[in-house]
Amino acid sequence: MMAPSVEELIKRIHSLVPRDRKIRIMNVCGSHEHTIAFSGMRSLMPPNLELIPGPGCPVCVCPESDIINAINLSRQRDVILVTYGDMLRVPSRKGSIRTGGGNYRIITSPFEAVRIARSNPGRKIVFFSIGFETTTAPAAAVLDSGVPGNFFMLCSHRLTPAIMETMVRDAETGIDGFIAPGHVSAITGSNAWDVFPGKYGIPAVVAGFEADNLLLGISEVLSRLEHRDVRAGNVYGRVVRPEGNIRAQELMNKYFKVADVNWRGIGRVARSGLELRDEYAGMDAGKVFGPGEVKEEKIPGCICGDIILGRAYPPACGLFRKACSPQAPAGPCMVSVEGACNIWYRTESV
Ligand code: SF4
Repeated sequence: MMAPSVEELIKRIHSLVPRDRKIRIMNVCGSHEHTIAFSGMRSLMPPNLELIPGPGCPVCVCPESDIINAINLSRQRDVILVTYGDMLRVPSRKGSIRTGGGNYRIITSPFEAVRIARSNPGRKIVFFSIGFETTTAPAAAVLDSGVPGNFFMLCSHRLTPAIMETMVRDAETGIDGFIAPGHVSAITGSNAWDVFPGKYGIPAVVAGFEADNLLLGISEVLSRLEHRDVRAGNVYGRVVRPEGNIRAQELMNKYFKVADVNWRGIGRVARSGLELRDEYAGMDAGKVFGPGEVKEEKIPGCICGDIILGRAYPPACGLFRKACSPQAPAGPCMVSVEGACNIWYRTESV
């Protein structure tokens, strides 16, 4: 059967949105928000359908306490902190990793962290490992491949389903349905989202990142709402299997355990992150170097927490386009190309 055209999908979406109430669908992944914003998709939607950006930018959700711990570690003698490029610019009240005066290197893959450790046997290499299931799986693969004794991990991994559940319980957010993240679902499987229809009566449909696939996902969410047939779905079947990547899940489970963790601008969320299992405490930078937990503080005027939770759009922030830009980010959601503030800043510019 021929796939529906973009025009047909937009017509279908208009026909499915009820006239008498607002529908709010959250796209969890930063790449989804990128497609929605840069394609102008919002301008083609019915006025009472809101497409809300969600928490899927790993840099945005990394808590300030972990950034400050990373800065403190990078300043220790003999330590080289290695992490992904975007993390260097994330602001904290102690500055950023880049301006913190410590030793750091940029990597694009966790395997580079191991190479740096092997080629610097006299230094302690601390890999500041952040992100959702998509970066946790390669981090676990690196640990499983064998790491030298001078390799340590500062673990700041977060679990997507857990923060989505937090949002559903937040009455202020008022989410009617989810576009579940395509990349994360490749690891977790589409079955990971069954909890939303099963426990909360909210449909969740996995979609890819092309505009037509995303439109198909939105129409599937609306169709489920219309027919009160609330099930999880998957329109990204060419990449995402129901059970996900079992080998990746086994590796993640081998090295990490679920923990209560902080989220930037949100605070502590139960069972929403990962930490190294006790048997790997010898490479856990948080335990070995003892940087200690730093109190979490919000950046004055920054409403990233509200944006991540779907309570506000970037222009609601008084600093947006004034004291905060991609060139000089005042808050974390402006740093990465996956951050909602960064995307809205750039799409309003084109
Ligand atoms: S515009 Fe800047 S300061 Fe405001 S919410 Fe976004 S990142 Fe935070």
